[in-house]
Amino acid sequence: MGSIEMRPKVVLVEDETDISEALGYSLRAEGYDVLIADEGYRGLDLIKRNRPRIAILDIMLPGIDGFEICRRVRADIATKDIPIIMLTAKDEQTDIVLGLGLGADDYITKPFSTAQLLARLRAVLGRGKLASDDENPDYAEVGELIVDKERYEATFRGRRLGLTATEFRILLAMALRPDCVFRRDELLNSSVGEGVFVIDRNIDVHMRSIRKKLGCHKLITTIRGVGYRLESSEAAARQA
Ligand code: CA
Repeated sequence: MGSIEMRPKVVLVEDETDISEALGYSLRAEGYDVLIADEGYRGLDLIKRNRPRIAILDIMLPGIDGFEICRRVRADIATKDIPIIMLTAKDEQTDIVLGLGLGADDYITKPFSTAQLLARLRAVLGRGKLASDDENPDYAEVGELIVDKERYEATFRGRRLGLTATEFRILLAMALRPDCVFRRDELLNSSVGEGVFVIDRNIDVHMRSIRKKLGCHKLITTIRGVGYRLESSEAAARQA
């Protein structure tokens, strides 16, 4: 308590020391207080004792694996709200779905750059503020995609998309957190308001329409069984 600002704690559970050392270094440089465990039980213990601002969990670990840590963190009332990012093997769709199903907030596939992880970290930490107005949520620019609420206009590669009000809100929410997985219910929450009512399954219908208007099907990835993600790399990629 008091006016001294504490460095936000991050618990990193990773048994590959190359990765944990490099990440630990980068996260400390970003101002985080990093606690590292190279084994599952110790990782869970660190989380329970320190209640970090965020936990980053590898999946394959000695002791208990990242899924089990996630499950136990979510089952404990003292730790259940701690944001979790899972580190998954390359394109292991089942890992991703299982992790998010257990309540992880996001995932990043190996190999990843430190910059990617830091971006994901900021996205997850900022997500709780999605509904508030304290970080300029009226304008988002991702590569060549621009979503401007002030002008109520979305453009991609300089072309106006002509979105409906609901489609606009969904795309704005995603563009504010590129490369971040949105569950359907999150998109639902972001698009409700100002007299618009959307029911869950309609998100898929809206998404189909948004993709059609974008004219680029790689820009929004479907995460089967979970939701959607806007790809910043595709938004930035120049068409040949
Ligand atoms: Ca591992």
